[in-house]
Amino acid sequence: MKKRFFLLIILLLCGYFVVQEITQDPLKKLDIREGLADEKALEGEYRTIVISKDQVYKGDLLLVNREYPVQQEAIKSDVVSLYQNEDLVQGYRLQDDTIQVSESMGRVFVEMVQAAQKDNINNFIINSGFRSMEEQERLFSEMTPGIAMAAGFSEHNLGLALDIGSTTMKIEHAPEGKWLEKNSWKYGFILRYPKDKTEITGTMFEPWHYRYVGLPHSAISKKKNFSLEEYLAYLREQKKLVVPFDGETYEIYYYPISEVITIDVPINKNYQISGDNMGGVIVTISSDKLV
Ligand SMILES: [Zn+2]
Repeated sequence: MKKRFFLLIILLLCGYFVVQEITQDPLKKLDIREGLADEKALEGEYRTIVISKDQVYKGDLLLVNREYPVQQEAIKSDVVSLYQNEDLVQGYRLQDDTIQVSESMGRVFVEMVQAAQKDNINNFIINSGFRSMEEQERLFSEMTPGIAMAAGFSEHNLGLALDIGSTTMKIEHAPEGKWLEKNSWKYGFILRYPKDKTEITGTMFEPWHYRYVGLPHSAISKKKNFSLEEYLAYLREQKKLVVPFDGETYEIYYYPISEVITIDVPINKNYQISGDNMGGVIVTISSDKLV
């Protein structure tokens, strides 16, 4: 009789943890609607915006790899020194006083570090952020071949990449690395060179290198286990996505750009435009302010 009672308790507990796991994992609830956008998301008045060809080379979704180098207009305009901006260095350390990042990305990073602290993960360090072309050239010539990219072919030249470490051990073994791999997508970051994507990215596994792409792109990439190369190919193929997520409905549109185009965006919503660095632009519409 006692045995049965205990078995029942164990079964109930298992059920409870399974339910907890499902309700607590927001990725499980992420519903990606491919193809035609739904009517409701498209209600309301519109205004027409003009997108010129140079937009292809600007924005947070640019693909940078051996095939697609950083164009001059792609370099983030809000790059700042972290050492000189104390409010951007909270809860983590800097490897040295020369590290620079895009200010807006730096603010999201602080938010992410604060969230990690709530989970008792406290030992982050930034080892590298924005690198000028000259700096990249110097690294490329000094490093063992295959470690650093040539100038103009590194995401660090954009200002949207961070090499993140742990002050206690190598990032791949550290709780910091595990936390980032699990949670960074919630803040718009992706692990850019995962172990299982080396053939697609053409880059070895880099557990420290995180790239900012913004929400909801990081969430969709995580849910579908896409590298940035795969995600952008997917957008190009789908052309339209509607993604209800975290109380918000995002609409994502892909347009090939060979000349100036005009598109309609809802008057009462926010939108963000980014090129893919390959010949297209992605328009992300949301009613809330995008981070
Ligand atoms: Zn890196």
